[in-house]
Amino acid sequence: MPEGHTLRRLANELTDAFADRPVRVSSPQGRFTADAALLDGQTLVGADSAGKHLFVEFPGERFVHVHLGLIGSFDVHTGAAAVPAPVGQVRLRLVSVTDAEDPDTAAYADLRGATQCDLIGLEKRDQILGRLGPDPLRPDADPEKAWRRISRSHRPIGDLLMDQEVLAGVGNVYRAEVLFRHRLHPLRPGETLRRGQFRALWDDLVELMAEGVASGRIDTVRPEHLPEAMGRPPRKDDHGGEVYVYRRTGQPCHVCGKKVRTEVLVGRNLFWCPHCQPRFRSRAQHT
Ligand SMILES: [Zn+2]
Repeated sequence: MPEGHTLRRLANELTDAFADRPVRVSSPQGRFTADAALLDGQTLVGADSAGKHLFVEFPGERFVHVHLGLIGSFDVHTGAAAVPAPVGQVRLRLVSVTDAEDPDTAAYADLRGATQCDLIGLEKRDQILGRLGPDPLRPDADPEKAWRRISRSHRPIGDLLMDQEVLAGVGNVYRAEVLFRHRLHPLRPGETLRRGQFRALWDDLVELMAEGVASGRIDTVRPEHLPEAMGRPPRKDDHGGEVYVYRRTGQPCHVCGKKVRTEVLVGRNLFWCPHCQPRFRSRAQHT
């Protein structure tokens, strides 16, 4: 599933390709036809993301709200000489109305497989934003909002980090990796974390996710654990990126050599190193 960096990157790409230009809006597949007709020919204002939600803005405080879900994709093509016929189930297509003298500005984008694609107004947009926890990629994010929820919760930190109402944008890869980097066992209850531990984790997410926006993949290993530094082969996985524990079940930890473990929590796989991320024992268990 795309994580927050993918949506932020997409918002940036859409803004670069279409903002301040009139666009043709259509729904080749047909499920967005009536709303597309309302926007067709209008000037696209820009695109923004919050967590895993994308908002493409049109004049009059109207937004196309997109959630890619598990398999959705929104592909932006720039500099294309001609716009090809749509392939597959294209729910939404944007085509820039280009200046004939400046063909480099030609662009089109196709949305497929998204769980949500709706035309909404400002009130609805604000409702969606209001339900989301702080997004480490947004400069206006307030980490204290997440800390208040985490510090009062019995739920495992691994569960809380994935709860979009607690913290927006973190998915399974960033969850596994940031917990490893901070030596936190994923099943440790939120209420047992110290404020400083949470702040360090938040600051790390801000940095890691910004790198993800820039590179388009998730890399979380420190320089000393890169393949070239360790003399190990690079990771082979369709997800790309160098990681410590995500989908590395049974493989040796890059730090201690112990085998990475996995377990299902709320329907998603957790990954952790049993040595680097020891199980937390509360005071009650010690006495
Ligand atoms: Zn380890």
